[in-house]
Amino acid sequence: MPAKKEEFSVTPYEVKGKIDYERLREQFGTQSITPELLAKLHHIAGGELPPALARGIYYSHRDLPALLDGYANGKPFFLYSGRGPSGPLHTSHLLQFQLCQWFQKRLGVPMYIQITDDEKFWSSKTGIPREETTRWGYENLADILALGFDPKRTFTFFDSRSIAAMYPLAVRVARKVNYSTVKAVFGFTPSTNIGLVFYTALQTVPAFWPSWAEGRAVPCLIPCGIDQDPHFRISRDLAEGMGYPKPALLHSQMVPGLLGDSVMSTTGDRSDNALFLNDGPKVVERKVRNAFTGGRATVEEQRRLGAVPEVCSIWALWRTQFAETETKFAEVTEGCRSGRLLCGECKSQLLERVHRFYREHEVARDRAKTWAESTIITAAPKAL
Ligand code: SF4
Repeated sequence: MPAKKEEFSVTPYEVKGKIDYERLREQFGTQSITPELLAKLHHIAGGELPPALARGIYYSHRDLPALLDGYANGKPFFLYSGRGPSGPLHTSHLLQFQLCQWFQKRLGVPMYIQITDDEKFWSSKTGIPREETTRWGYENLADILALGFDPKRTFTFFDSRSIAAMYPLAVRVARKVNYSTVKAVFGFTPSTNIGLVFYTALQTVPAFWPSWAEGRAVPCLIPCGIDQDPHFRISRDLAEGMGYPKPALLHSQMVPGLLGDSVMSTTGDRSDNALFLNDGPKVVERKVRNAFTGGRATVEEQRRLGAVPEVCSIWALWRTQFAETETKFAEVTEGCRSGRLLCGECKSQLLERVHRFYREHEVARDRAKTWAESTIITAAPKAL
């Protein structure tokens, strides 16, 4: 009898169980990122692929080949990603923005960021005040821009500030979305507030904005966690009927938490599950030292049998962000498997890089704060 497959469920609001990513991709009906597709991207962008692509963290897509072919034939696209601001960012939140920054730097394409301070207020289970989601919106935006975005090509929809600009397109989108569609996708119940019901229209606005504003088809690429795919399926279903290109999607796996959870959730008492960007050096050190690893019970056993990187939260940090080169990543992985590298030494090496990243990020963040305001869209294009 075949082994029973483990059960899991993934929605935009909740992830349960141990995720089988290949099965999830099949359930969602998306395509794999193949070596041929990576080679095409490598050819178009030039230089080394970023870790998120080279190491298979982004593993699934919708319509990426057509978008790349269009770019190669002189049809540039734009990037769209967002953040629901309920608190400080942690390092895994940066993954999608680091990938966007890489695309912008390599291909010179515009980036649109959406800060959903309204949605976070409507969806908060802890009752976060609206002033707080807005305050965190500004903080998070500075952290995102600090990753190296180009001030001239980066634009922000800060929902509570940009609503007047967004509203004319949002009402057109809202006219096309039935309640039964959002109910089925998001599992809304009779007690769901009506803000969340309308929010689907606001989340779709950035995906269509350049096409709407420029009066011509401008393709869109949205890198996101695969759990967010259902949100954008609605935008894709609407696109052609409204005369806009379907947004292409790039899906990542979820980053495991430091406490050994399969997702870096930090709600309730799980704040040690992640490295927050406002954690001080001592807190970072404590979290890393206490993190769940794939190490063995004793040094002798680890030297003899090697450790298991795939279950280790420290290896996940190396893999997603902190091994700068493929050589370093291979060195950590092989050292771990062979037993040459012990967990204490591995954590010390990682900490050195994490501390350096925090120091450099703080400087870049202060600089980004001086121009963050200039990216916020407050008026609809004159052409309208
Ligand atoms: S050696 Fe490093 S990667 Fe391997 S299990 Fe230990 S901490 Fe994790």
